[in-house]
Amino acid sequence: MIQPFYASSAINRHGNYRNNKTLLNKIIIEKDTKFIPFYNGKNLFLEINKNITPVIFNKIQLDEFFPNGIEDTIFLGVAHTLNYMGVDLSLPNQKFECWLKENQIIIDDLRKYGPIINDIEASFLALSNGMFFWQNTHKFCGSCGFQNFSTEGGFVMKCSNDKCGKSHFPRTDPAIITLISFQDKVLLGRSPRFPDAMYSTLAGFVEPGESLEQALEREVFEEVGVKVKNIKYFNSQPWPFPASLMLGFFAEAVNKEMTIDYNEIEDAHWFSINELKSLEHPFISGGFKLPRVDSIARRLVDTWINRFN
Ligand SMILES: [Zn+2]
Repeated sequence: MIQPFYASSAINRHGNYRNNKTLLNKIIIEKDTKFIPFYNGKNLFLEINKNITPVIFNKIQLDEFFPNGIEDTIFLGVAHTLNYMGVDLSLPNQKFECWLKENQIIIDDLRKYGPIINDIEASFLALSNGMFFWQNTHKFCGSCGFQNFSTEGGFVMKCSNDKCGKSHFPRTDPAIITLISFQDKVLLGRSPRFPDAMYSTLAGFVEPGESLEQALEREVFEEVGVKVKNIKYFNSQPWPFPASLMLGFFAEAVNKEMTIDYNEIEDAHWFSINELKSLEHPFISGGFKLPRVDSIARRLVDTWINRFN
């Protein structure tokens, strides 16, 4: 099985620790515990000799900035016997902000560096980001409007209203993503949100009451007016930016005729293997780019190309 990015198999989430408050309190004060900072929706990176590494703190370092302790932590799991916690450092703190500047810390989106940093760390950063995004958008109970509080290592947001007490769990939004082929060509399109010249496989969110296959058929028909058959599951890719799980498929078009909905996508074409390899297409002036290497879209395209090698 291909291991997707941001899903290292070396990580044990140890869900059984989440209910053990004594253990979690012990982990928080242990000197070896690694704290992954979440900072205003972004992560922190350090460049040393052109190598990028994520900034990860230990307890002693954190205490320097936050001597009164940290409240916003999430227990992420264990890798190679080390415990990892996420920690939200977004609240204003002059000492910490000075440190960021003095050390020329890079504050950026994980996706920019994900493919070039250590896989375990990239996976913990992705998990931490997804969890904090979820917590930050679930501060209040959706049923009664009272404040929620974080519990079970951060994996439950519980309503503070005694009469309600509802537990809210982390959520992930499933999205299908599909490489559509017709004989020896594949269909790629571009959304106006994409980086310049990038063409990718079609994707869309699954709606309530819909199977993955139905979502795929609907999305493809809505975007390019193509009916598909022979839908085959490929692989999945966690994409907690902020909360998606991409479910990859291959499918075949019933015919090649397209009716593009320009409200949904900006452009779409059929690409031959040679065009995919040369990154040139007769209808795209100046060439095109394939999706980023850490995406499942890219793995779908690369897997397709490799079939013909
Ligand atoms: Zn409530």
